[in-house]
Amino acid sequence: MTHDWTDLPGRLVVVSGPSGSGKSTILRRALEYPGVSARLSISATSRAPRPGEEQGRHYHFVSREEFEAARDRGEFLEWAEVHGNLYGTPIGPVMRALERGECVVLEIDVQGALQIIHAVPSADTIFITVPSLEVLEARLRGRGTESEAVVRRRLENARRELESIGLYAHVIVNDDLDRAVAEMAALLAGAEPRGDDRDA
Ligand code: 5GP
Repeated sequence: MTHDWTDLPGRLVVVSGPSGSGKSTILRRALEYPGVSARLSISATSRAPRPGEEQGRHYHFVSREEFEAARDRGEFLEWAEVHGNLYGTPIGPVMRALERGECVVLEIDVQGALQIIHAVPSADTIFITVPSLEVLEARLRGRGTESEAVVRRRLENARRELESIGLYAHVIVNDDLDRAVAEMAALLAGAEPRGDDRDA
């Protein structure tokens, strides 16, 4: 990593949690809260778009070959293979937002979070979880969009991700969506750019 992230005025926030934990919904709603001013980083992925997902809005959808070429050029702040697909955070937009003093949120898996913790020690980290694996399984099946094999793979991955919960500075248990959103909003609103204490 040749970039120096330590002196940038903005704030980097990592949000992880197993699929089915509701993290996308919680984040989306928290980002609209009054007092929250943060932008979501748009990842690149080799996964195919799901119905309703738009190129450049939900992800930058690329081929595996394009992803690997960008990765080999060092264009990702972190990257990981999740559920058989490649995902990565493009460095450029994150770096520019942090230079402007903005708060940038990365919604990434545990492998990516570990890379960020090493590369950007000042990053804040939030893990979203559910009360139990049974609740998670019910939610994954309730979605109805995934095959049995995909549900099983995601559950197995969730078990592994939950083992890393101790790496995160904050944990949000999504047993009540409104409260989870409020907790996330409070954490994001508290994640002010470091330049903000200039008149203290
Ligand atoms: P999905 O395919 O359901 O959108 O995402 C699957 C998993 O990949 C989620 O846990 C999501 O947080 C993670 N993910 C999405 N973008 C990135 C990324 O840029 N880097 C890493 N490491 N994980 C990502």
